[in-house]
Amino acid sequence: MALTAVQRRARRYVVLGNSVAGIAAAQEIRRHDPDGPITIVSDEQTFGYSRAMLPLYIAGKKTKRDTVFAPRAFYTSERIRLVRGETAVSVDARAQQVQLAGGRRLPYDRLLVATGSSSRTLDVPGKGLPGIFPLRKMADAEAIKRHLGSCRGPVVIVGGGLVGVKSVEALAGKKKVIHLAISSDRILSQMLDRTASGFFLRAFEQRGVRVHFHADVTAFHGRDRLEGVSLSDGTRVGCDLAIIGKGVTPNVGFLDGTGLAMNQGVRVDAHMATNLPGVFAAGDVAEPADVLQQRNTPSAIWPSAAEGGRIAGLNMAGVPATFSGALRMNAVEIFGVRVVSAGVWEGGEPLTSIVPEKPLYRKLIHADGRLDGFLLLGDVRCAGVLTSLVKNRTEVSAAALVKDLDRGFSYRPRLYALGGSIRAREWGGMGN
Ligand SMILES: Cc1cc2nc3c(=O)[nH]c(=O)nc-3n(C[C@H](O)[C@H](O)[C@H](O)COP(=O)(O)OP(=O)(O)OC[C@H]3O[C@@H](n4cnc5c(N)ncnc54)[C@H](O)[C@@H]3O)c2cc1C
Repeated sequence: MALTAVQRRARRYVVLGNSVAGIAAAQEIRRHDPDGPITIVSDEQTFGYSRAMLPLYIAGKKTKRDTVFAPRAFYTSERIRLVRGETAVSVDARAQQVQLAGGRRLPYDRLLVATGSSSRTLDVPGKGLPGIFPLRKMADAEAIKRHLGSCRGPVVIVGGGLVGVKSVEALAGKKKVIHLAISSDRILSQMLDRTASGFFLRAFEQRGVRVHFHADVTAFHGRDRLEGVSLSDGTRVGCDLAIIGKGVTPNVGFLDGTGLAMNQGVRVDAHMATNLPGVFAAGDVAEPADVLQQRNTPSAIWPSAAEGGRIAGLNMAGVPATFSGALRMNAVEIFGVRVVSAGVWEGGEPLTSIVPEKPLYRKLIHADGRLDGFLLLGDVRCAGVLTSLVKNRTEVSAAALVKDLDRGFSYRPRLYALGGSIRAREWGGMGN
């Protein structure tokens, strides 16, 4: 729907959060509304950067500059005012204003909450000792890098999710003894089955990493700095650095009292709109409806943040657009081996077994004439196609899927596109 000149003049956009969701939204707004003033507020001092690359920065494989995907020139060319180092402390939905910690008030006609999430902290004795770090922001990565310079002993990484596993990879080349403490029975339990986890366990052990399953931190020890960690399996490990990657919680504290409907995060509909007029949410802070579970759940992954932000931006600019739904999905590369899973990947029979010399593991979970999910390890070239099939609930036989997977989906699966359910733009891969 085209905006009238009056609407355009009147519409002021405020985006809280300068990361993938906020930036994707701002970009989309500018594309459809050349005149409306856009302000992005961030409590960080940085330009837009990739959090997923922070472990590579710690490892010395990427510079700070390499992590930046939205440099200063981006804001200039898109005519976006970036307010850096300022925290939004409250939103007055009735007056349509955001209150910043420094005292400023920002009026808005359309507001996007894209404040992401923060690392969960551990509530155990010794949790405040110097030497214990979350890994969420560039400032965390810089602090870890500085600390590593003076750190001689072993390192304990807490959590077997993306942050923990990527931290292991980052530090494995630094001649450190590394302990990885995982609550569950496997590595990357949010994306791998036992077989795939076992493959990475061997890769870790070959590099000298000691993995402790069913192990939570019960205490940190040390006088005035970290000297050791006790684990619930009875192990006590000496160390002078601990990195915590125990999941995230959405950054919603400043929204108390606004009247926004929330679970853990901000509830949004298929347009990424909240229950308050003119207020949208996207990214880790938002809870869109999950494709398979049919209920609102947080989806703390980069592709969902990018797509949710884009859809929010379109709707904020007056262009109706619908989010196709969040899908439990993850993609990562560890020690050069890529793995992707989406939807349901537990159970089912694998199509291939893992041979250490040439890791290739594939699993498709098919039920009632549809693909419910998959796990690909080693060769992930078909992940984009398979994700589309799961997301669009496309009707397809198991036999046809297996055949096409073997052929690498070398042709467009027009046969599956019943009712045009596969859209061309979804052929670009994982976008991660
Ligand atoms: C080490 C690491 C590795 C990862 N690897 C992967 C991966 O391999 N694949 C994947 O899909 N995902 C990965 N992720 C997750 C991915 O980075 C997130 O899903 C994504 O960054 C979410 O984007 P977002 O825009 O919602 O918010 P965020 O990236 O969390 O950014 C939100 C911004 O808002 C700011 N903010 C918060 N509160 C306020 C406030 N009150 N006022 C002003 N500003 C505020 C924050 O400081 C932050 O700058 C990884 C994350 C980390 C930390």
